[in-house]
Amino acid sequence: MINQLNRPYNYSLEESTCVNNSGNNWGSQTNCIKALKVAMNTHFDNHQNEKCCYCGLLYDRTGRGEVEHIAPKEVAKYPQFSYTPNNLAKACQLCNSSSMKHTYDSVSQLHQVYEQCEFKIVHPYLDNHLYHYKFNYGVRQVLIAVNNDSDKARESIRLFELDSEKRTRARAIERNQERLENLYNLPINIRNRIKRAVKFR
Ligand SMILES: [Zn+2]
Repeated sequence: MINQLNRPYNYSLEESTCVNNSGNNWGSQTNCIKALKVAMNTHFDNHQNEKCCYCGLLYDRTGRGEVEHIAPKEVAKYPQFSYTPNNLAKACQLCNSSSMKHTYDSVSQLHQVYEQCEFKIVHPYLDNHLYHYKFNYGVRQVLIAVNNDSDKARESIRLFELDSEKRTRARAIERNQERLENLYNLPINIRNRIKRAVKFR
């Protein structure tokens, strides 16, 4: 399961001023930009549950998470969206690596207003993931497939290798772990009742 994100980073007034003063430059080394990036990292860790915005897996399965520009920020691409809230989310190192997203141009049609650009991939914030992706759950694998003949889903699955055996298995492991954790979070009386039922079967 890859969840659609709904909590982009919200700049404080001071942070907006800082971004303006930096000339929208992501590489700026001023103290306020450094502090902003720390705050952003914490925000994404909390609201994404430490899961990658593209593959939906915990970032520590594939390495440390990194703040990612959905439309790449590099010069001659989209530096104007360097600090656009909907353009920023955390991705795992694998999805953000040079063989995958990195400098890949995810925009198919540019518009001045970020939200009106068209994207080639399923956008972490702007696209309804349940419309684009279909999931099939098993114990040892969680299969991902294209829903509604979505070209974006096809492109995301290709680019991030979402249907590779490794990712498929990793999704199943995570799902099973989450189910167990949910079980442990149940009130004690219900948990005991389930345990008893399982035992006497
Ligand atoms: Zn990922």
